[in-house]
Amino acid sequence: MQITMVAAECAPIAKAGGLGDFVHGLARGLAARGRQVQVIVPRYDCLRLDCVSNLQPVGPELWVPYYDERIRCDVQCGQADGIRVILIGPSSAQGFFDRGVIYGEPDDLERFAFFSRALLEYLHRAGERPDVIHCNDWHTALVPVLVREVYTGLGVTRPRLCTTLHNLGYQGVAGASVLRQVGLDPERMMTPDRLLDPHQPTAVNLLKGGILYSDSVTTVSPSYAREILGTEVGMGLQETLRACEHKFAGVLNGIDYDTWNPQSDPKIARGFWVDSLPNKAVNKMELRRRLGLSEVRKPIAAVVSRLDQQKGMDLMVHAMRRVPMSGGQAVLLGAAQDPEIDARFRVLQGEMKGNPDCHLELGYDEELAHQIYAAADLVLIPSLYEPCGLTQMIAMRYGAVPVARRVGGLADTVFDANYGDKAFEERNGYLFDHYTQAGLDSALDRALWLWFRYPEYFRQLRINGMRTDHSWDRSVQQYLDLYDRIRR
Ligand code: ADP
Repeated sequence: MQITMVAAECAPIAKAGGLGDFVHGLARGLAARGRQVQVIVPRYDCLRLDCVSNLQPVGPELWVPYYDERIRCDVQCGQADGIRVILIGPSSAQGFFDRGVIYGEPDDLERFAFFSRALLEYLHRAGERPDVIHCNDWHTALVPVLVREVYTGLGVTRPRLCTTLHNLGYQGVAGASVLRQVGLDPERMMTPDRLLDPHQPTAVNLLKGGILYSDSVTTVSPSYAREILGTEVGMGLQETLRACEHKFAGVLNGIDYDTWNPQSDPKIARGFWVDSLPNKAVNKMELRRRLGLSEVRKPIAAVVSRLDQQKGMDLMVHAMRRVPMSGGQAVLLGAAQDPEIDARFRVLQGEMKGNPDCHLELGYDEELAHQIYAAADLVLIPSLYEPCGLTQMIAMRYGAVPVARRVGGLADTVFDANYGDKAFEERNGYLFDHYTQAGLDSALDRALWLWFRYPEYFRQLRINGMRTDHSWDRSVQQYLDLYDRIRR
């Protein structure tokens, strides 16, 4: 079976968050099971070319339709962390992928619509016939639409199409011109049963198109699947999803056990595992030195996150003040795309400057993220909503106990130390329900109390988390079953 994954991100070459980890982890898992798999991403100027080997041109000269013109693209293939990757780089005045960033440009819709058309044009011209094209989020949600509306008419054997929804907070809502750009007829496409946005009668909703035109639609956890079908967490797409319930499922993500392995992680000061937990303390000491925190007997509660509303920004700010007052140390590593949010955290960073028990690091830093997980006792994830969340799984693997809101994938992976019907060995964290400061405090205080009063139980909680299986194995099998089903 030949599987082509298409996405805006793929770790480690182009990663802004969990989407990059998903594409990387699933592609590697599929390859490990002997499937032919390749990943197609844009050739961003900020792409980590140092992580790609054997880079070479591939396919015939490629000219991609763009309104009434055509734009020439360079296509290269190479190997990144054992995965075959195809990089599509348009040469045009707009410099679609020469912006120094993956996202956040005013013309993001146009950029990724172009990429969607370009990758299909490449597959078509190069004579590649994947059995399955696996699309991800709104960036590539036009792919299933284009396959059925344009490319089947060109005589291509139709590949099966799977779309994974990583976050309904981003749907790709655009004006009709995006359809003309890729060669679709706005009159035909802008109807309630096709791409018309459920809220704005003059707008196109790309993600809705991906849902309707795919053979299978997945999201990244069973709880988030239920939430988006049945509540306003579906952000206007509930009805579309309910109409597609027969082909919709929640499959929990895994984490890549090679990237996230506390025993052999080259980014951390000292490797450790369940049988060598005291080594974790060396990482704690190193982190304190690096960040200028005092070296005293205190738990470290950390946040590693994008900084935006979804991630529970207000509660993070609250925690940065509350943890030091409760006898702990607070560390935050976060990057904000929104300048206002960035400014807010910079003020907080200034306020905490020189504080021996609190440190904020603003920006994206892969190495520091590993070091924080390795050092932390608690990792705070107070999300407003959370499709899956990888942070809690990474934290657990590194012996840090998650304190999380009971939503989406967090509810599927974090099991409360005090409440619930799980056996003690399966309990691995602390949960709270209400999105309020009091809600977060109710879980945080219980965690801190255990750390101070019953270190032996706390140690056991860490070990329970470390032993929980969050590998890709189970999820890869579920995706393979799903691909088999849609190919029948
Ligand atoms: P998201 O909604 O951002 O995809 P996930 O929890 O699914 O959230 O995945 C987040 C991933 O990005 C994790 O691997 C986490 O460690 C990483 N990450 C988030 N923010 C940062 C940052 N500022 N620096 C480094 N890594 C980060």
